[in-house]
Amino acid sequence: MQEFDNGLAEKWDYDETTPFDSDVSVEKLKKFLRSDDRLIFYGGEPLVMIDKIKEIIDGVNCKFGIQTNGILLGRLPIKYMKKIDKMLVSLDGNSVRTDENRGSGIYKIVLNNLKNLRKNSYNGEVVVRMTLTKPDIFEQVMNLVPLIDDGTVDSVHWQIDAGFYKFDFDKENFSKFVEEYNKEIDKLINWWVEKIRLGKVYKFYPFIGVFNRLAGYDDETRLPCGSGYENFTINTSGKLSACPIMNSVKNFYCGSVEEGIDNEIQITDEKCLNCPEFKICGGRCLYSRNAKLWPNDGDDLICETIKNLIMKIRGKVPEIKKLLEKGVVKKENFLYEKYFGPEIIP
Ligand code: SF4
Repeated sequence: MQEFDNGLAEKWDYDETTPFDSDVSVEKLKKFLRSDDRLIFYGGEPLVMIDKIKEIIDGVNCKFGIQTNGILLGRLPIKYMKKIDKMLVSLDGNSVRTDENRGSGIYKIVLNNLKNLRKNSYNGEVVVRMTLTKPDIFEQVMNLVPLIDDGTVDSVHWQIDAGFYKFDFDKENFSKFVEEYNKEIDKLINWWVEKIRLGKVYKFYPFIGVFNRLAGYDDETRLPCGSGYENFTINTSGKLSACPIMNSVKNFYCGSVEEGIDNEIQITDEKCLNCPEFKICGGRCLYSRNAKLWPNDGDDLICETIKNLIMKIRGKVPEIKKLLEKGVVKKENFLYEKYFGPEIIP
């Protein structure tokens, strides 16, 4: 509740005319989207609007994706689900952690839904999107690995729950989080490389994405999520925003479905522009960078996690390149479709 007083209403120009439900017609979407664009259903929870999703899939010729909490996955008929070949689904690791964060019994419901989809021959990419509220990333990812191995899910992305609210920064607690998280990341990177040595590349997006930039496979230097230049949010009135979190903030509008893209938004924060890792990190998150809800010492701690991750992956690049040269793994194993949801920098 305190968050309503985060100061952003004074800082940003919110568009109060934006309707609650989308009034963007299929006709407008058809005109705006090209066949190789990917339209991602995003909420709230998009699956509460099943009729709208069906109407759009029936009427628009493009690729589709979804970001969902996974609870209502069984409601959309499989023929529509199969058109959505990229899915980010919220699980935070094991059942205990997921249920702690999202409600009792949620893990089981989501998992059953995913297994049913696979039984019905759904073969789109399922990315587990974890919100990391505790630093035990190694253990939580290890809980997901069997689901990758048995084909229930394909890949994992996580974001640390830091910098998104004004009132949740506690220096002592978050310093401990960072110390622990960085150790866990080291452990997870070592595990990841061990598997690469055996010929298996697990698609952990923060590792894959950073590796692609460090190895020179991805020469983009802006935000790895694509916000504001490759990835735009269509809000409920048809305006294009740089990021779903700021979908109705006029300061971040980039055009409309009627008029097209007329503006690009970039990270302009001096701290990022002067950071030695800017070309790899890109600034982490357009929203948190602009909202600045945490004080500088909190932001510095977040950056410590990013720099540690980049430094540790950088240390593994020569070995991974040798393994690539030897044919133990292939370059294709590291490539991925950009900008469909995983922000890459946690
Ligand atoms: S590490 Fe921090 S300062 Fe550096 S580019 Fe990323 S967000 Fe900006």
